[in-house]
Amino acid sequence: MFDNLSDKLDSAFHVLKGHGQITEINVAESLKEVRRALVDADVNYKIAKEFTNTVKEKALGQNVLNTLKPGQLMVKLVKDELTELMGGEAEGINLSGNPSVILMSGLQGSGKTTFSGKLANFLKNKKTKKPLLVACDVYRPAAINQLHVVGEQVGVEVYSDEGNQDPVAISRDAIAYAKDNGHNVVIIDTAGRLAVDEAMMTEISNIHQAIEPHETLFVVDSMTGQDAVNTAKTFNERLNFDGVILTKLDGDTRGGAAISIKSVVNKPIKFIGTGEKMDAIDIFYPSRMADRILG
Ligand code: GDP
Repeated sequence: MFDNLSDKLDSAFHVLKGHGQITEINVAESLKEVRRALVDADVNYKIAKEFTNTVKEKALGQNVLNTLKPGQLMVKLVKDELTELMGGEAEGINLSGNPSVILMSGLQGSGKTTFSGKLANFLKNKKTKKPLLVACDVYRPAAINQLHVVGEQVGVEVYSDEGNQDPVAISRDAIAYAKDNGHNVVIIDTAGRLAVDEAMMTEISNIHQAIEPHETLFVVDSMTGQDAVNTAKTFNERLNFDGVILTKLDGDTRGGAAISIKSVVNKPIKFIGTGEKMDAIDIFYPSRMADRILG
């Protein structure tokens, strides 16, 4: 994960970690390299610049040059700032309803169906939760089948209504079904398109308004870099979602989405997907992610 970025940050700190005299120029050079590494990892230039300016201010404030190990202190300042940029504390999902309704949104191929299965499995393993998965993609019968396969894999019931072309009606019926059958969590997997289009945004907004979910999650493929951030912005403007799910972090992803999405949409990343299997799900902890990025 983020090997390229980690290597570049390591080399940015190389000078500071040496034993020679450290000067303000060294610190500035080093931060310039940090900024370059972030931009190369697909972090927006403005965010990267603000980031290094903040670290510089803190470094001056703490009189870094006069400390015993300036290199280590700089690494710590960068780590703390990265943690802050990615959201500070880990944030859970709202499971207060009975049933708690969770709406999944995102583009086709982002990993919505896979993540719906993972989340159902994650919650089912908590013992007190009995999830119901709901297939709301009325355009692609294959998508409905896929959710059934996923449901079978994790041992969670899947609600679908093949002839019904109205996703709002399907969602409402599914929630009623959940109430009647003792499901205390409903996870609604919706249709996605390959790119943002008005019809999809209207459809997901309609579902969102009609069912008023306790939690709306936006699923995004971390491999798509800056596009991931732009798509998040568009979905957030329409849905004001509660959290982001970053998938495919097991791939050769550069890291920009993980680092910048929070500061762009001001919504936390809640979970990450780290593989195709149903147990490849992790709660997103900003500080652990910062540790991994800094190697
Ligand atoms: P949807 O169209 O948004 O429902 O996306 P899918 O759930 O069908 O996922 C699209 C593809 O990405 C599938 O081949 C999944 O197996 C794969 N996928 C989903 N999440 C992950 C992940 O975290 N890591 C990897 N490597 N592949 C994933």
